[in-house]
Amino acid sequence: MQRLSLAAFALLATFILAVSAVAATKSHSAKATPTPAPAPAAATPAPDSSASATPVPSGTPPTGTPKITYSQCHVDGPYIAMTFDDGPHIQNTPRLLDMLKERKIHATFFMVGECVVQYPEIVKRIVAEGHEVGNHSWSHPDLAKMSEGAVHDQIQKTHDAIVNACGVAPKLLRPPYGAFTARQRAWANGTWGYKIILWDVDPEDWKIRNAEHVKTEILKHTVPGSIILSHDIHKTTIDAMPETLDTLLKKGYKFVTVSELLAMDHPATPKPKATPKPPATPAAADASTTPPATTTPAPATPVPAAKP
Ligand SMILES: [Zn+2]
Repeated sequence: MQRLSLAAFALLATFILAVSAVAATKSHSAKATPTPAPAPAAATPAPDSSASATPVPSGTPPTGTPKITYSQCHVDGPYIAMTFDDGPHIQNTPRLLDMLKERKIHATFFMVGECVVQYPEIVKRIVAEGHEVGNHSWSHPDLAKMSEGAVHDQIQKTHDAIVNACGVAPKLLRPPYGAFTARQRAWANGTWGYKIILWDVDPEDWKIRNAEHVKTEILKHTVPGSIILSHDIHKTTIDAMPETLDTLLKKGYKFVTVSELLAMDHPATPKPKATPKPPATPAAADASTTPPATTTPAPATPVPAAKP
């Protein structure tokens, strides 16, 4: 009997041990399970956030950005745009308007705000006769060297003066000297919706006051899609116009406003000779003003300031 009870006791003891062991394992595993569970859960957001971050660099948004600056256009047809800057001028602009009217030519006038408020009736006539008006700053400074606030004043005051004079809001901006940084262009486009208009033909009529020279240079460099720069404040420029315009008409050129030319613009057809032309236009010269972003490597300076 004692043997039996001993054996039974042993069995019972083993059983109890076994059961408690299982319970222990279970409780262990039960405790262990939740630990790894939150681990992957916590780890999940990491790949998620990195995944959502990936499209930013790979999305390459710059490729789709609309064109803001033009120095010429690519058009199908002999279309060109004559542009006249720095006016209106009390004598020369009306004289020019007569010449344009006679030839049924529409041009674009980039006007200085100071002159706009002086001769609002000429601005009115410009618009009434089908020409386009553009903003050329208030007092013709080098905008690229000015603060954002000062540039804003120059552009806004002129914008308002043009609207007050003729009721038309300009859509084009030509910065004096073509001086406008890439950042300023994007900002002006975002603020007023302005397209920045430069040029590809420059007869240097502001420098060389000679009608023959103005005419020769314009005729030599004009091609379809050209945006021709000139100034209606100089008598010699206006003197050059009758022959210049008549010769261009005879050559088959058709005069349109800058906005009309822009509307015809299409991406340049890839030509086999893709030799990058040396900068002949202020557009290229301007581009050099872009990279002030190179100032980043400053943090390399930390000097061993390990003084106790
Ligand atoms: Zn100018």
